[in-house]
Amino acid sequence: MYDTVIIGGGIAGLTAAVYARRAGLSTVVCEATVCGGQIINSPEVDNYPARPHVAGWQLAADLQAQAEEFGAEIKFCAVTGLSVKSGKKTVHTSAGDLDAKTVIIANGAEHRRLDCDGADRLYQRGVSACATCDGAFFRGRECCVVGGGNTAFEDAVYLSSLASKVYLINRRSVFRAEPKLVSALKSKENVEILTPWVPERVLGEQGVEGFEIKNVDTGEKRTLPVSGVFAAIGMIPANGIFSGTVELDESGYIKADESCRTSLPGVFAAGDTRVKALRQLVTAAADGAVAASQAAAYINLAL
Ligand code: NAP
Repeated sequence: MYDTVIIGGGIAGLTAAVYARRAGLSTVVCEATVCGGQIINSPEVDNYPARPHVAGWQLAADLQAQAEEFGAEIKFCAVTGLSVKSGKKTVHTSAGDLDAKTVIIANGAEHRRLDCDGADRLYQRGVSACATCDGAFFRGRECCVVGGGNTAFEDAVYLSSLASKVYLINRRSVFRAEPKLVSALKSKENVEILTPWVPERVLGEQGVEGFEIKNVDTGEKRTLPVSGVFAAIGMIPANGIFSGTVELDESGYIKADESCRTSLPGVFAAGDTRVKALRQLVTAAADGAVAASQAAAYINLAL
């Protein structure tokens, strides 16, 4: 029986692991793929305190090393469910069941998929949600990024160094992205920013051969001659497996209070997976610290 099982090895989960170990809790982190979460795809992070210009993967690797140095166990497995019996929690995973006194859910969120015609059919055949993973396939070709947040602008800046031309399309003429990123993209000669346009259809049979878009104001249609379409249209929570165990809000985020406590005693939620106002690295890290401290307090009170 672990003192705490942490679901997810992103910034929230790894920070929780550091704090849990420092509080003396036996700790395991379950991570399905690689540690770090979304941040590993950010080439440069400028808003994490005291680490300006750090590469996302570097920040993640440093934090993983810190958690392991403090004695956290990291298990690479997929979590398939969470059940509770007489206060004992069991996290069900592809590597077997893990019993725990407390659980910290820090599973982040998933990329929202484009919902226009052809997008699903051509997913991973020219349609992608990860520019740093798939950008190299479009060296010397034209591609498009959909979205107006930090991810879209970072992706477009990155792709502009590989592709012959990059279009960024956004459904509104204002952007969620920080002005610094917007300026960086606008300074690129091979970039065209199109607003307010929305995706209509991804064209092609075996791969992407074009991208039909529609102007929101005028209804005008245009086909971009691209071979890659990158969706950077935000994240959605993947909390279906917890829906019968902890309370979710109408969008699927876990309801948790300031202390990261969920509706189920001894189960905490940290980072992007929970209802919160600001989803950033620094707030994910803060949640991890709070959740682990609360898990330690919960165990001490139960003794
Ligand atoms: P985001 O900030 O939520 O932006 C999503 C963008 O996609 C918005 O422009 C949104 O338009 C648009 N969109 C949403 N659904 C759409 C749809 N169905 N069709 C077309 N467009 C759609 O997402 P994000 O850029 O992935 O960022 C997520 C969080 O991570 C944010 O808090 C962000 O600041 C953070 N982040 C930080 C960094 C960094 O600091 N270096 C890097 C990446 C991400 P509307 O504006 O109209 O809703």
